[in-house]
Order: sequence, then C-alpha cells, then structure tokens
Amino acid sequence: MPEGLDFVEVPMSDSIESRLKEDRRFPPSAEFCRHARIQSHAAYTSLHQLSLEDPETFWREHTTDLVFRTPWKKISEWNLPKAKFFVGATLNVSESCLDRHLQTGEATRAAIVWEGEPGDTRTLTYLELHREVVRLTAALADLGVKQGDRVAIYMGMVPETAVAMLACARLGATHSVIFGGFSSDALRERINDCGAKVLLTQDGAWRRGSVVPLKKMADEALAKTPSIEKVLVLRRIGHDRCPVTMKEGRDLWWEDALERKPSDASMKLAKHPEAFDAEHPLFILYTSGSTGKPKGVMHTTAGYLAGVHVSTKYVFDLRAGDVYWCTADVGWVTGHSYLVYGPLSCGATVMLYEGAPNFPDWSRFWQLVEKHGVTILYTAPTAIRAFIRAGDEWPAKHDLSSLRLLGSVGEPINPEAWTWYHRVIGGGRCPIVDTWWQTETGSIMLTTLPGACYSKPGSTGLPFFGVDIAVVKDRGEECKANEGGKLVIRQPWPSMARTLWNDDQRYLDTYWNVIPNVYFTGDGARRDEDGYFWVVGRIDDVLNVAGHRIGTAEIESALVSHPAVAEAAAVGRPDDLKGQALVVFVTLKQGHEAKDLKSKLVEHIDKEIGKFARPDAVRFTDSLPKTRSGKIMRRLLKEIAAGNEAKGDTSTLEDLSVLAKLRTDEE
Ligand code: ATP
Ligand code: MG
Repeated sequence: MPEGLDFVEVPMSDSIESRLKEDRRFPPSAEFCRHARIQSHAAYTSLHQLSLEDPETFWREHTTDLVFRTPWKKISEWNLPKAKFFVGATLNVSESCLDRHLQTGEATRAAIVWEGEPGDTRTLTYLELHREVVRLTAALADLGVKQGDRVAIYMGMVPETAVAMLACARLGATHSVIFGGFSSDALRERINDCGAKVLLTQDGAWRRGSVVPLKKMADEALAKTPSIEKVLVLRRIGHDRCPVTMKEGRDLWWEDALERKPSDASMKLAKHPEAFDAEHPLFILYTSGSTGKPKGVMHTTAGYLAGVHVSTKYVFDLRAGDVYWCTADVGWVTGHSYLVYGPLSCGATVMLYEGAPNFPDWSRFWQLVEKHGVTILYTAPTAIRAFIRAGDEWPAKHDLSSLRLLGSVGEPINPEAWTWYHRVIGGGRCPIVDTWWQTETGSIMLTTLPGACYSKPGSTGLPFFGVDIAVVKDRGEECKANEGGKLVIRQPWPSMARTLWNDDQRYLDTYWNVIPNVYFTGDGARRDEDGYFWVVGRIDDVLNVAGHRIGTAEIESALVSHPAVAEAAAVGRPDDLKGQALVVFVTLKQGHEAKDLKSKLVEHIDKEIGKFARPDAVRFTDSLPKTRSGKIMRRLLKEIAAGNEAKGDTSTLEDLSVLAKLRTDEE
C-alpha cells in the first residue's frame, strides 16, 4: 500500500456541504456552439458511449489524421495491469506532428510563436520546425544516440526544447525532460534514475529579469552522472551575462553540432526516420512530487499520441486560425501533452512564452494575449489566484477580446477563482474547460466539452472519450450520488502510463494493488446527481475532524470565497479529542490585514460549511509551499502544523525559504 493510504479506511461521508451549494451552471453561448466541433450534450454522450462500447471503431474514426506506417491489428490487449494499445502498429510520432503538415499544404502555417522574457520574438512555421528537428536528429545520431537510449533535456521555455523532444522521438530515443527550475541535486537524481546518455541544456534561461544558470547547475549534477557521454549546450543568453565552462570531449555547443556536416547515414535517418512499435517508450517524466519521492512515469508511442491528439482537438475545440497558448512549463506533463505533442499533431499554432507571468509586471500575460491574438488560454488555478491577488487593473489594461476559450488544470479550481477567470479574463463569453488528469493518465480524463456541456464552477465535469471513471468505496463498489469516495478508472485507456521506470513494483502498488481491478488515482472525489465529478483533494490529505470526513478543496474554497483571502491550504493536526484538528494557512489579497480577520474567517467557515469544520488554528502567511508546478504541498504543511520538522523529499519544493518562514510564524 502506498505511503499514507492506510490513513483513510472509510470513504468520506456524504456530509460534505460547502461545494454542494455551488449549483450555478454556465452553458456555452449559442454562438460558440454553432461553430464547435461537438455541439450538443447528446452528441457528446453518444460518442462517449461509442468510445467505451466499440473502442475499435471510435479510435479508428478519430485517428485518421495520425500517420501509422503499419496499421494496427487490434485496439488493445489487456493483461492486468499491463496494457498494449494499437497492437501491431508501427509509427514515428514526429511524422504525425511535422511531416504530415508539409504534405497537407500547411507548411507555412506558424507552428510555434515564441516570445522571450526580454520581449524578443521568433516564429517557426511547420516547414522551419521540421527543418530544425531534422538537423538536430542528424546531429544526435552523429553523437551516437540510438533507438532506446535515454536523453535528458534540462532546458527552459525556448523553441529548441520542443525541437529536442521531437528529435528524440524521431530517433526513437526516450526523452526525459527535467524542469529547468530544478536544482542540481534533483537533476542528478533524475539523470541517474533513467540512465541518460546525452544531456541537452542551455547556457541560461531568463526568469523574472535574472538569468538561471542552467549549464552551471548541470555541471554540478554531471560530476556524479556516470551514464552521460555528451552534453549539447544551446546559447540563449550569451557569454557576457552567462559565462559557461565547456568540458573538452564532453560538451558541445548546439550551433556547432548543427553546423557540422552530418554523416550520410545520420542525415538519411533524420529525413526518413524509422517507424517504431506502438509500445516503444516515448518518454519518462518525473511527477511533480506533491506526495513524496518523484516517480518516473513512462509513456509509450501510439496510445499516448492518440490520447493527446483526440483530447486536444475536442477539449480545446481547435479550429483553423486559433492561436493556442498553454502556459504550463514544458517540464511538466501538461507541457508535453498540450504544448508539444497534442497541438502539433493537430497542426495548431502554439504560443510559447519563456518567462514569468509577472515580469516586468502583472500585465505581461494579458499583453501577450493582446499582442499575439491568443484565442485559447490554458493555465492553472495557482496562476489565476495570483492574478486575482494582484488586482483587476492589470488585465483591464489590455484588449482580451481575441480569447474564445479558457482552460484550467493542476488543482481543484475554487469556484471564486473560476468566476473571476470567467468574468474578468473571459469577458463572460468564453467557456471554461476545467480538466482533471495526471502525469500517469497522459491526457485529459475529465472535463466539459466546451460546445456540448455546461460547466459548474469547481467541478471538473464529465468523462472524456474512452474514459470509464467512477467514485468508489474501498472494496470497489460505486458510491451513491454526492457520496465521497475514491476516484478510480475502470478500463484501461490508450494514453495510460505503462510503468514507473525501473520500478514495476511501485507502479503496481501505487495504482493497481489498492482497489481490486481498477486504476486508483490517489484522489478523492464525488459525483453529483448530474454525473459531474468534483475532485475534493488527494486521499491522503482528506481530513477527519470529529468524525466528519472532508476534502481539503471544500475548506480551501470556502476560505477563498471570503473577500480578503487570496489562497488557502487546509491540513489536519493530530488531536487527542477530535482525532484531527483543522489548521488552515491563509494568504491575503493586496490591501487586507490579518488583524481581526481570524474570527471573521472562522465565522465564514461556520456559515459556508458548518460549525464542525471550524478551524482550530488560522495561520496567516505571505506564501504557501508549492511544488515547482505550482501545487500546494500539504504534506509539508501537515508536518509544520504538528510542530515537526518538515521531513521527506523537498526536491520539488519551489522555495525552501517559505518553509523556514512558516515554522517561525506566530499562530
Ligand atoms: P505526485 O504524484 O508526485 O505527488 P502530482 O500528483 O502533483 O505529483 P501531477 O501528475 O502533475 O503530479 O498532478 C496530478 C494531480 O493534480 C491529480 O491527481 C490531482 O490531484 C491534481 N489535479 C490536476 N488537475 C486537476 C483538476 N482539474 N482538478 C482537481 N485536481 C486536479
Ligand atoms: Mg500524482
């Protein structure tokens, strides 16, 4: 049993009230529906039904845009917990993302519209992106990279990061992108876990006006990474601001590697790449680590591509002329699936931004939307809450009328943040797709298709195509409507992770050996009478206060609905009398003071949820500990609330000083 799970033996009772009060419905406008790919709830339902009852037909009809060299014989083979999809097919993912667009007359369409933090811009058409990928593929082949080798990518948000991923895919090398904000130790640990042969990095990256010295940090890691033979270094910043040392025989400038004439064999391979088996490992990605030691989630080729392709097309309702912007870092799964593989396989124009959302000030995102005519924006609740805290005056400075669809991912979105996003950013006209999924699921599992279904603020909606998902009790029996339980997936799906790298046993124990015959997500949820799912938080964070089981999202959303509160995290502290006492950590919006607020917040919880959920302690703080992908790390707050040192893996923590400060804060 995975860490912490023994903590929850019985599912949450149906006493959860707070978000049950949330009954607003936001249907898409008639105008949006008229042009949408899927235009009615009935159309969604019948396709969803087809995808479960006759997956062969569903996936055949919906993958006609993908390039298979050898057609598949069977949609899946399932031998719990090992799954194969598109059995017998061979393909090269980069052909679906690049080559096919050159043949369909879209060669001159912009594939990547990039803006650097200092304001420099670059646009790569599909033709240019293809050319860059071919050149890098040949260079990597000349460096000795072969099918099945692992390549680590430690880079920032520059077009070359996408080029690097696609070049690896083209060669059949398995990439592992390690987020550029990670420390040397975290990088070393991940390189060693996957045994990477080559590292692709850059001199430095811009972040909030300063330079993050990636190569320097990589050098520290490389002192203890015996598997690395070669390092390619992209020059992003330049010698004056970011000097680097190049190790003779190991390190090579990216531009030099590309300028060398490749061998004929490598060039041939780059231009006419091999096709790989449907189950060939495409990438390994370490999870963000909200709950403990990062896991090397492994994804394979055909099923992953099919999952991200179909979900990008329908969830983001992509049409010709869209400028699609996903703000996630490419170092996270959202960056893999919805910045690179999904949109490029759909031939979309993808916007890529290098830097911080608040550089030089909080209007940067909105300035980017206006300048590049962004039509679809996909971001995270943590960013939305930060924008709310900064104030409405920033988005007000810009014309956001190009936007037509908004998305959210990463954490439960508080209804308050949802309505702000809808009103202030979406001008009340853009549907919001809240998308629930995980590194392990590869692609979106729950959402509301924007032209087909109404949204409810705070709910992640309905199952996507091919997804058989449910809320169950410990032994697997399905919960009643609105009864809290564990979120599980009952049928394998194409983009599911196939294993954890080098750790089959942990893969089994974490996901498959928890509840009989189903995939356990680790999240707690309930499904309402309309079939909409509400994720209430991670099962190991679920609180048990005086016999009442309650999800963290319920309490946090209630707090965020108070006008003074920007962000909140709720955790339990052992308590002799109640089992657990509730401790909440709160950050305030600009212009609000902690003074006298404590009792008001307690009253607010009384009103929103009930007296049973009254916090025993309210702690005000400037910031909350978060993973580098912006998720609140409640396991660390739990330790602090109990008066202990925060133990466990902190390699994914964004800012260590937050912890030190929290320990010294007064209650
Ligand atoms: P680790 O598994 O290492 O602890 P992690 O779970 O944070 O890290 P991810 O795979 O990036 O790593 O995140 C998936 C999790 O994020 C989900 O299991 C869920 O808890 C949360 N999540 C993602 N999207 C949503 C959403 N739309 N609504 C609610 N929760 C979400
Ligand atoms: Mg997880």
